[in-house]
Amino acid sequence: MDAAEFRKRGKEMVDYVADYLEKIDKRQVFPDVEPGYLRPLIPDCAPQDPESFEDVFKDIEKIIMPGVTHWHSPYFFAYFPAASSFPALLADMLCGGIGCVGFSWAASPACTELETVMMDWLGKMINLPEEFLAGKDGQGGGVIQGSASEATLISLLAARTKTIRLVQSEKPELTEADIMGRLVAYASDQFCATLGTTPSCSFDKLLELGPICNKENIWMHIDAAYAGSAFICPEFRHLLNGVEFADSFNFNPHKWLLVNFDCSAMWVKKRSDLIGAFKLEPLYLQHHHHESGLVTDYRHWQIPLGRRFRSLKLWFVLRMYGVRGLQEHIRKHIRLSHQFEDLVLQDERFEICAEVILGLVCFRLKGSNELNKELLTSINEAKKIHLVPCHLREKFVLRFAICSRAVESTHVKFAWQHISQLATDLLKAWEQNHHQQHQQ
Ligand SMILES: *Cc1c(COP(=O)(O)O)cnc(C)c1O
Repeated sequence: MDAAEFRKRGKEMVDYVADYLEKIDKRQVFPDVEPGYLRPLIPDCAPQDPESFEDVFKDIEKIIMPGVTHWHSPYFFAYFPAASSFPALLADMLCGGIGCVGFSWAASPACTELETVMMDWLGKMINLPEEFLAGKDGQGGGVIQGSASEATLISLLAARTKTIRLVQSEKPELTEADIMGRLVAYASDQFCATLGTTPSCSFDKLLELGPICNKENIWMHIDAAYAGSAFICPEFRHLLNGVEFADSFNFNPHKWLLVNFDCSAMWVKKRSDLIGAFKLEPLYLQHHHHESGLVTDYRHWQIPLGRRFRSLKLWFVLRMYGVRGLQEHIRKHIRLSHQFEDLVLQDERFEICAEVILGLVCFRLKGSNELNKELLTSINEAKKIHLVPCHLREKFVLRFAICSRAVESTHVKFAWQHISQLATDLLKAWEQNHHQQHQQ
């Protein structure tokens, strides 16, 4: 493919993606395929001779789409949202075009510097304490990780190194191995301090945890993967109170802030804590500058060496939506979750299982776990909408997460009517079963 063909095919691909997203509500949200569906549809090994773009292109609908779960369908209510927007898609295209690997400042200065500034913009949007920002010469700062899980692991590793050095400064006779075996990490069943847990979107009490961590010299990492985006709205910012006690904080714009995967935003108060844990400097990676607020080598802030130009997505989205546009997106989703909550509450057969704070509703039929498992099965087998369950204490619970950028009140109403009808059918079948067993 030369540049001339790329121009042509690129435009075709943009049309294909625009059509896909514009008409996504016409596709069945969850695919019909069985495990192993794909292998028989394609050759056993890569082609020896090149194929044409047309050949590849026509296989998208034939081979790929039948096995796609449509996360951006307005009938998708599973997991948590996967963010997507047109500005972010375009920025990702540019990222691919530049194709740099920005592991150090010198490896691509724009890649590093835009990321530092975007992380400051984003930090200011959620009113993070000044200490977390890089500013012109701050000790803190932000970095884009691939996922919240990576951010948590990195915090753990940085905390470990920091503690080992602290103990060694007091007791130089201890080896690293001596100390390592005695370190303690405190966690709940959700692992670290969490704002917006995955099963039910509940919130840890930072104002209780934080002072204890600070007093005992314990590194506090806060995971707000999903909920963090809501803190750009002043009315939800109070949920982040207590972040001032934390050493590191993370949330995923790729969940709820219209930035396509992957973009997990992580901040630390002391960049030296991260760099201390990860710094490696072979000769071929050294350059003339020294790490400072001005020259950041992000390879010391993450597990991999290489990194993509992910801040372009943030830059495009923050500019083209503005804070106000993003706030509207968050508020709309939260309005819709309360609409769904109201519909559930009006039906005596159902109960709400956790306080609805953001865009997630946990609900179930009053009755056994078996009954609720069957309800979920019938919902997901009908494939008109898609949901996943969770366990809250001993209870099997259905999660209804507002996900799509395009979801409207009509989709939520449809989903509820559908669930309610399936519940009616299920309860009737259960009653008949019960009746028959009684007669026998
Ligand atoms: C989604 C989620 C994660 C995992 O996010 P990744 O970026 O996929 O690793 C972690 N913690 C919470 C609370 C989440 O909701």
